[in-house]
Amino acid sequence: MSKIISLAKRRGFIFQSSEIYGGFGSGYDFGPLGVEMKGNLKQVWWSGMIKNHENIIGLDAAILMNPKVWQASGHLTAGFADTLRECKKCHKRFKKDEIKKDRCPECGGELTKPRKFNLMMRTFVGPVQEEASTTYLRPETCQGIYVNFGNIVRTMRCKIPFGIAQIGKAFRNEINPKNFIFRTREFEQMEMQWFCHPKEANKWFELWKKERIKWHLNLGIKKENLRAKEIPAKERAHYAKRQVDIEYRFPFGWGEIEGIHNRGDWDLSNHSKHSGKDLRYFDEGSKEKYFPHVVETSVGVERTLLAFLCNAYQEIKGGRTRTTKSAKEVEILLNLDKKITPVKVAVLPLVRNKPELVKKAKEVYQLLKPYFVCQYDEVGSIGRRYRRGDEIGVLYTITIDFETLKENDVTIRDRDTMKQERVKIKDLVEVLKERLED
Ligand code: ATP
Repeated sequence: MSKIISLAKRRGFIFQSSEIYGGFGSGYDFGPLGVEMKGNLKQVWWSGMIKNHENIIGLDAAILMNPKVWQASGHLTAGFADTLRECKKCHKRFKKDEIKKDRCPECGGELTKPRKFNLMMRTFVGPVQEEASTTYLRPETCQGIYVNFGNIVRTMRCKIPFGIAQIGKAFRNEINPKNFIFRTREFEQMEMQWFCHPKEANKWFELWKKERIKWHLNLGIKKENLRAKEIPAKERAHYAKRQVDIEYRFPFGWGEIEGIHNRGDWDLSNHSKHSGKDLRYFDEGSKEKYFPHVVETSVGVERTLLAFLCNAYQEIKGGRTRTTKSAKEVEILLNLDKKITPVKVAVLPLVRNKPELVKKAKEVYQLLKPYFVCQYDEVGSIGRRYRRGDEIGVLYTITIDFETLKENDVTIRDRDTMKQERVKIKDLVEVLKERLED
C-alpha cells in the first residue's frame, strides 16, 4: 500500500486534506490526476446506467434533508450505529475486535462498557444552534431517491420496473477511518435504485449482481482479485433483506467496494408512514397498488478508484524500456483501462534545446488539447519521459522529432505494447479518437 500511496501523492492523484495543518480527520483531496480519474469513473458508471438502459433515469438530490427522513429510514435509531467501548483515559473508541485484553489498545487505560455510537454527522441549519435546527449530512445518497419517488413516477411516467441513478457525496462519522481512501468520513457513492414488483425482486437481484461484477471486470479488475460475498442475516445493514458485497483483494486484504442490497419495501413504506404521503405504485394494467421492492447497487467512488490503482500498479524489474540503465532499476507501469486513465496523451519534443522542435511540439499539443486530456513534457531524456508517462498510465505518447519538421508526421507510442508508429499530424486527432473509442 505504501507504494500506491507514495505514487498517488508524488504524481498528483491524492493529497492529504489540510496537509499544511497536519491533516484532518482522514480527509483526502484529489489532485489534478485524481480528479480526472474520479471524473472518468463517474462518467463510465453514469453512462453505463443511463445510456445502456432505456429505463434508468438520473437524479441529483440535496445533501441536507429534513431530519424526519433519517427517523423514517432508521438511521437515527440503533440501526446505523457501531457498538464501541471508550477509553476512560485517552477517550479513544474501539470496536470489539480491536480490543485484546479488556484494556485500551493505545494507552492501556480502563474501558467503558460497550455503547452504541451513531455514525450520522450532525450539523445545524440556520443562524440558531439549537435542537430544532439540527440536521444531518446524508450517510447514503439513496434516501434522496426514495423521497422523490412520487415526483419521478409522475413527471417521467415511469413504469415498473425502472431505476433511478445518482452520484453524490455521503458522510459517516467512521470511528476508525483507515487504509488510505478506503474508509473515510466523506466519500462519494454511485447508487442505482431499481424499483420492481415484489415477486420479481429476487430475479432482479441476481441480474444486477451479475451486471455489476461484469462492470468491474470489463474495466480491467483481475478476476482473481474480485469476489461476491453473501452476507448472513445478522451482519446485514438494517434495511437489507439480502446483501451481497462485491469485494476486491486490496494489499491489506479483501474489502467491500460495492454493496448489492434487496431493501424490500423498507424505505418506501417507512417514508409513507412517517410523511403521511402514499408512495405506493399504481399499475394501470393490473389495477394493483403496491409498494415496489428495491434492489440497490451502491458503489463507492474512492474505494473503486483505490481498487483500480492497486489493480493497475506494476513494477517491472530491470525495466522494459531500453533506456533503463541498471538491471536493478524498477519501472512503474500503471496499466489503467483507457476509459479511466486520467491522462490519455502526452506530447514530447525529442529534445528541448532545438527551438523548432519545441515550437512544433507545442503546436501539436494545442491541436490535441481540446479533444483529449493531454500533457506536454520536455524535461529529461526521452526514455525518462516515457517512464514518467507509464507511471501515471498515459496511453499514447506523441514524439516530435527532426523528421516531423520535414514530413509533418509524428510517432505515436502505445503504453502497453510500446510499439511506435508514424502518423501524419493532420490525421492525428482522428487516429487517437478511433483508438480511444470503445
Ligand atoms: P463498510 O462495511 O466497509 O463500512 P458499508 O457496508 O457500510 O461498508 P454501504 O453502506 O453498503 O457500505 O455503502 C456502499 C458503498 O459505499 C461501499 O461499498 C463503499 O464503496 C462505499 N463506502 C461506504 N462507507 C465508506 C467509507 N467510510 N469510506 C469510503 N467509502 C465508503
